[in-house]
Amino acid sequence: MNKFKSVLLSAVFVAVGAFAQAQEKTERQQGHTNNNKFKQLYDEFSTPNMFRTASGAPGPAYYQQQADYKMDIVLDDENARISGSETITYTNNSPDTLNYLWVQLDQNVRVKDSPSPLIENDAAQPADTPGSFADTFLTEPFDGGFNILEVKDTNGRDLPHMINQTMMRVEMPKPLATGEKFSFSIKWWYNINDHVNGRGRSGYEYFPEDDNRAYVIAQFHPRMAVYNDVEGWQNSQFWGRDEFALPFGNFEVNITVPADHILDGTGKLMNRKEVFSKEMMKRYEKAKKSYDEPVLIVTQEEAEAAEKTKSKETKTWKLYAENVRDFGFATSRRWIWDMMAVKLGDKDVMAVSMYPKEGNPLWEQWSTKAVASTLKTFSRMTFDYPYHKAISVHAKNQGMEYPMICWNYGRPDKDGNYSDRTKYGMISVIIHEVGHNFFPMIVNSDERQWTWMDEGLNTFTQYVAEQDFAEWYPDALSEGHDKYPSRRGPAAKIVDYMGGDQNYIAPIMTKGLNVYQFGNNAYGKPATALNILRESVMGRELFDYAFKEYSNRWKFKHPTPEDFFRTMEDASAFDLDWFWRGWFYTTDYVDIGIKDVKKYYVSDEPNAEIREIAKQRGINLNDLPPLVYFVEEGSVDFNESLKGKSVLENSTTLNEYIMDNFSSAERAKIKEPKYFYSVTFEKPGGLVMPIIVEYTYADGTSKMEKYPAQIWRLNDAEVSKTIASEKEIVSIKVDPNLETADVDTSNNSWPREEVKSKFDSFKEGVKN
Ligand SMILES: [Zn+2]
Repeated sequence: MNKFKSVLLSAVFVAVGAFAQAQEKTERQQGHTNNNKFKQLYDEFSTPNMFRTASGAPGPAYYQQQADYKMDIVLDDENARISGSETITYTNNSPDTLNYLWVQLDQNVRVKDSPSPLIENDAAQPADTPGSFADTFLTEPFDGGFNILEVKDTNGRDLPHMINQTMMRVEMPKPLATGEKFSFSIKWWYNINDHVNGRGRSGYEYFPEDDNRAYVIAQFHPRMAVYNDVEGWQNSQFWGRDEFALPFGNFEVNITVPADHILDGTGKLMNRKEVFSKEMMKRYEKAKKSYDEPVLIVTQEEAEAAEKTKSKETKTWKLYAENVRDFGFATSRRWIWDMMAVKLGDKDVMAVSMYPKEGNPLWEQWSTKAVASTLKTFSRMTFDYPYHKAISVHAKNQGMEYPMICWNYGRPDKDGNYSDRTKYGMISVIIHEVGHNFFPMIVNSDERQWTWMDEGLNTFTQYVAEQDFAEWYPDALSEGHDKYPSRRGPAAKIVDYMGGDQNYIAPIMTKGLNVYQFGNNAYGKPATALNILRESVMGRELFDYAFKEYSNRWKFKHPTPEDFFRTMEDASAFDLDWFWRGWFYTTDYVDIGIKDVKKYYVSDEPNAEIREIAKQRGINLNDLPPLVYFVEEGSVDFNESLKGKSVLENSTTLNEYIMDNFSSAERAKIKEPKYFYSVTFEKPGGLVMPIIVEYTYADGTSKMEKYPAQIWRLNDAEVSKTIASEKEIVSIKVDPNLETADVDTSNNSWPREEVKSKFDSFKEGVKN
């Protein structure tokens, strides 16, 4: 290269470089560079240690405590009271010496002078139902707290204890060292609440027509709090909303109820022959081999006969459960009972339903099938369901979960008719509550602290299970539905919440008690975030593998949010810190649009931009070596003759370069785009997300493109892409299938589409 030419070339580089610099400077002035949205979460996460590794797995020093229970429980149906005596054996597997134990007394949320109602901000409402009004203003508060009769060690000595609201501190004769066990016993009773009129996760429903009750009983006995490497003692009070944190253990429970009751609960029934009639045994054996249709163990006729009398005798049902975090049971003389076997891996599990006649015809049709279907989907997404049964109990207005058993709503009208809403609501709540067996009963997260870890993961998997259910039981769908109308999961369903008033939105990473819009915050948004992560960011294969890995790493253990976040990255090689940061730690929303589209052709003539730079720098354009120039359609430099021709036809420079540098074989393969588009995407929303774009061509075909979220790493407000195309592009659409939860789609199309406001559509609807 001669010296003269080299000077010229460097002038060109300076000119082009100056142009690029000017552009970057503008961006910096706009404050769009160096944003922290892709910064790793070192400040938010705790430092990995021997208990929990940086990869999100249990570490070499991981431990968990164990609490084993032996209980004798008596239900006094006449007075709606329950009493119990229990022996707790607590094993200290932690490296720490414990000076005292914390026991949870959840029922104390119902003591007469409970502070729970006092933390509610409740100004007078303009109107109220008579029932709620009477409850609030006309009656004495219900007294449903624990009466603790004694707390003793195994030698019968009283143990000093102190009750602070829903927590009881128990002192031991000497501190409990690493590896030691301590056994103690508690005697207690309480008045059972009416869960329909008083609300609550446990209690009875009263049926005035036949003066009977149906009981669903849970968090009914003093339970050990969790002690671990993250919280120490998790003794945060139960105010009524945040659920539970519980260690694993074995439960040996004898429950005495009226002899004409049936009962089911957590654990294996150890004395089936004592409590089942011969006929029930026969039907039970049949159910064990029925994989398609449930078999009735107690028929509706038998249940209706049972509700007419009341036995004075009692029966004791003996249950034993290994390695569960909790225990619940349900009992009544009014119930119909059915069962069906489900094959999972190499073993059979029993899907079970118990319901009063008020649940039919819906319950006999769909409850047990929904249980079976849920176990299949969740087992596929996580691990094979490890327990031997899963029970769905029909309880009015309830949706609540315990190991192997859950309570569910969904009641037809008195005449047996039901709406779509009732039917789908029932199937969805059953799928949801049965799903909770996996999160948090087995993957045992701390519900008191992180509602989303069980509700979000469970609601996400529920969405997958609902779609499966409709595929396996298409008859369950109403006319006009070709798939299950899931309420949560699809991206578009979370838009109203995320785009709503920021004053009433909390980040997902907030303690459950303290969030606004509980359902959207802890269920809807995390479920949708995971669904978007699976479908639109990672893809199913990578997501499902990592989700399964998390589930298997933490089954029968206590994971934290970081264990989840870290595992999802560890198993996929997907840097997701930006995703967790945006979706879980902020209240930002998605809004990505198209700001501008420019159409270009190439030419041998310098365009106005270059001419201006050359002028400023004193460069003679005639001294420049041959270059390829973009010319915008409609600009001052634009010449109509450039239209419709290929790049090689429009640029002699390019043509000569190809001839000089490419072999004829290479030339034969060369692409000859005719059209160039510079598309500028804007991002008014705070969340960084991939840009999903559909380019539609003049011949009606289209092409999808996904630019990874990292496209926003240097400029959080706008980015551009240059598209070279052989066909003319007639329209461009961002997120055409509504998969990113974009809150404002009015900027998603080029050319702009008229997006009707909700108000306009409403007005039109009224006119029509
Ligand atoms: Zn739930």
